[in-house]
Amino acid sequence: MVDLISRPFEAGRPLEDPQTHAAHPFSSRALKLFSTNDYLGLSTHVALRRAAADAAMLYGLGPRSSALVGGYTLLHQELERRLAALKGTEECLLFPTGFAANLAIVSALGSGEDAAIFSDELNHASIVDGARLASRNKGRLHIYRHNDMRHLEELLSACPSHHRKLVVADSLFSMDGDFADFQGLTSLRRKHGFLLAVDEAHATLVCGSRGGGAAEAFGVAGEVDVHIGTLSKAVGAHGGFVACRAELKTLLLNKGRPYVFSTALPAPVVAAAIAALQVNEQEPDRREHLWRLVRQLGEGLGVDACSPIVPLIVGSEAAAVAASAALLEKGFYVPAIRPPTVAPGTSRLRISLSAAHTTEDVDALLVALKECGILSAAGSPLAAAGSIVEQDVV
Ligand code: PMP
Repeated sequence: MVDLISRPFEAGRPLEDPQTHAAHPFSSRALKLFSTNDYLGLSTHVALRRAAADAAMLYGLGPRSSALVGGYTLLHQELERRLAALKGTEECLLFPTGFAANLAIVSALGSGEDAAIFSDELNHASIVDGARLASRNKGRLHIYRHNDMRHLEELLSACPSHHRKLVVADSLFSMDGDFADFQGLTSLRRKHGFLLAVDEAHATLVCGSRGGGAAEAFGVAGEVDVHIGTLSKAVGAHGGFVACRAELKTLLLNKGRPYVFSTALPAPVVAAAIAALQVNEQEPDRREHLWRLVRQLGEGLGVDACSPIVPLIVGSEAAAVAASAALLEKGFYVPAIRPPTVAPGTSRLRISLSAAHTTEDVDALLVALKECGILSAAGSPLAAAGSIVEQDVV
């Protein structure tokens, strides 16, 4: 195991203490971070550090231009090939960020008079913005209630049959830690013939026996047309991607403006992401450990935790901020999430787990939550999720 964020980087030296989170901006003390999206603890893995450092020495830092103009290298090609293999798709295209990937695919597929987008109300802000762009380009935008397949079907049925339909959903929702209804979505896809796009930002390398994502875990990867992902969470690097069929990649190469008009990913970042995919294959115990921690935390909280994102809904903004501050005093950073990120009245502590945590870390967090009186005050995760009208989930 390696550390999650922490100590000054000493190149090439594997770190032995996995959990010293020193020098956090909120505190001069070492903190245990339950706030990151570094689900496998790869961001500080020595293989990623070494790959990035070697690539920097070999190729330099700046990619110098957009991918289409000359920023695309054999390394980028190699990463795309590996991601397509992970997702089981023909092709893959890298983006500067996951945000750019969502913006590109949703606006490209959803634009035009004959296009209709159906978006879960809790989708990420980048999907929301892609959908807004598409609707400015004459696409119709329909928002369905969170995971409400009946509502989605009503909207689909009311849509003229000649419209090109795109249904888009986060696969693992970032603030609630719950999954898209994959069985519902794929059975509606069979019936209504839409393109299904899922944003696997939080599930890539986290879910599925190979780390392929939630679609793999639910056994429906082959029924998803577009797999969107980020390299900035469990992959431990930076950047985004879309894995899809060749024809959709061609569409993105021509109409995906955030791809066409943005600088390519830097080679060291790409090399680190390739190393992360190799580590994923070589060290499957990381994912197993992460899921053991999920079970441990769920049991300790007395809730059915279904992913490494475990929200404790405390209600008011003030209560969430106070709870986070009390935990900080005890050496744990668990961020308070407030409106507009979540609906008013559902402010929460968002606990995120990482394979870099130990079982002792999780036990210690549970003790701190009890000592701070947070466990008794918090409702069960998801219980108070409520309805969000405006889509603005970060
Ligand atoms: N999708 C989801 C669900 C996310 O949570 C995020 C990051 N907050 C993104 C996309 C954007 O990814 P990136 O940070 O790589 O731009």
